[in-house]
Amino acid sequence: KCHSCVVDFSPFNRRHHCRNCGEIFCDKCSQGRIALTAEDNAPLVRVCDRCMAEVTQRLSIAKDVANRSATVQSHEDLARKLKVIYCFFPVIYSFKWLCT
Ligand SMILES: [Zn+2]
Ligand SMILES: [Zn+2]
Repeated sequence: KCHSCVVDFSPFNRRHHCRNCGEIFCDKCSQGRIALTAEDNAPLVRVCDRCMAEVTQRLSIAKDVANRSATVQSHEDLARKLKVIYCFFPVIYSFKWLCT
């Protein structure tokens, strides 16, 4: 039986595994196709309706956090690199204030 709508499976009504929760669903209840990780090359897999919503939310949070920390890191990184460059090459006189 389908885990969601409790329909009986038959040769005409095939069963499918949700790749996220592992439960068995009919085709109708597992229409969602989504990548389970936030990686760019993650393959799309079949998930049930409930997991579709859950994974979508999880991924958007993960991407949000990744984006935010990536921006922060690269900004700090850039500032640090600039500081090192300008402090090591004081000839770049106009940027000397960065070393203070
Ligand atoms: Zn179903
Ligand atoms: Zn599921």
